[in-house]
Amino acid sequence: PEIISYQPTINIGLIGHVAHGKTTVVRAISGIRTTRFKCELERNITVRLGYANAKIYKCEDERCPRPLCYKVYGSDMVDDPPCDVPGFEKSKMKLLRHVSFVDCPGHEIFMTRMLSGATVMDGSLLLIAANESFPQPQTLEHWSAVDLLKIQNLILLQNKVDLVQEEVARNQYQAIQKYVKGTVASNAPILPISAQLNYNMDVVCEYIMKKISVPVRDFVSPPQMIVIRSFDVNKPGCEVLELKGGVVGGSITKGVLKVNQIIELRPGILGKDASGNLRCSPIYTRVASLHSEQNKLQIAVPGGLIGVGTTMDPALSRSDRLVGQVLGQVGTLPEVYTEIKIANTHLLSKLLGVTYEWHGTGKSWWSYKGRNSAAERFIHGNRG
Ligand code: GDP
Ligand code: MG
Repeated sequence: PEIISYQPTINIGLIGHVAHGKTTVVRAISGIRTTRFKCELERNITVRLGYANAKIYKCEDERCPRPLCYKVYGSDMVDDPPCDVPGFEKSKMKLLRHVSFVDCPGHEIFMTRMLSGATVMDGSLLLIAANESFPQPQTLEHWSAVDLLKIQNLILLQNKVDLVQEEVARNQYQAIQKYVKGTVASNAPILPISAQLNYNMDVVCEYIMKKISVPVRDFVSPPQMIVIRSFDVNKPGCEVLELKGGVVGGSITKGVLKVNQIIELRPGILGKDASGNLRCSPIYTRVASLHSEQNKLQIAVPGGLIGVGTTMDPALSRSDRLVGQVLGQVGTLPEVYTEIKIANTHLLSKLLGVTYEWHGTGKSWWSYKGRNSAAERFIHGNRG
């Protein structure tokens, strides 16, 4: 039970159009100040993973009024802090949740990245800016992903309400309500907020508690983790003896990972055999360290994002090279396939402004007319 004091046990993703306020929401909820971290390695992990951890507390006195009874602290809060609601100062706050917020960056990142992040999300906050027309193209793309991956536990945040008249906000609110009807988000609450001014952020915490439940976790199976970031934390010119092994970040889907455990990454290194056929060689390495933000862990459990320091050649993990790979106990990982047969394809249907044309020359290929969107890159598979 005490593990949630050290490691988040749930991942909540932030999705939505660029500049609608994802990063500001994470900052408002978690109060994360990256300069707080002493150690370069730890800071690197946090920044590069695009995540921030936060602890949601609630006043132990049932009479303490909502939503004021909810409060968020950083991952480093270890005590039960006192309540600051007038009249309840003598009550303690109790830790309810330790959450990893996964901030999926906007325009600069590919849809594939958003999808690889989405696979580890237990819940999502979808941002919609109140001062722009709804829906925006990127909101729709994310929406399609949410729909496709059957992401449950969605909360819609109507952000920047400080910038518009009440009536404008109300009209957009209704437009959103109308739009979500019949989609996976049909039961999703819509919360008007101002992340910048910290309005209603306690309500967001309340809804995270009430609407996003921690899934039942499997602590017994051999450990398996999905890699959503990977990097080389060494600075150019660093001394050989100080070189650190490759670092991967991700979320354990089942089992428990331990320091010093020998692990395997699949599919590993892609190459060709002597006759030119595609060949994958798994990477075998050792868990040198486990981190959850500034907390060093001895064991890590399913849920929140963790950083795994390894003894592998850091060149292997540089610049997200290992994203999408599976890490786990040696000999227990899924088979590697170099060919798959696709029975059905499903084009993300709500991608407005993009029409596709089939070009049947030699290698079959799609081309597109219209907006050069993240989704287009997703469908085309990033061919340069
Ligand atoms: P992201 O691209 O979705 O991560 O968006 P950011 O969090 O970086 O926010 C984009 C811009 O909107 C920044 O300049 C923020 O300061 C601003 N912003 C975010 N939330 C609010 C809000 O609630 N009110 C106002 N007025 N501005 C906001
Ligand atoms: Mg951002």
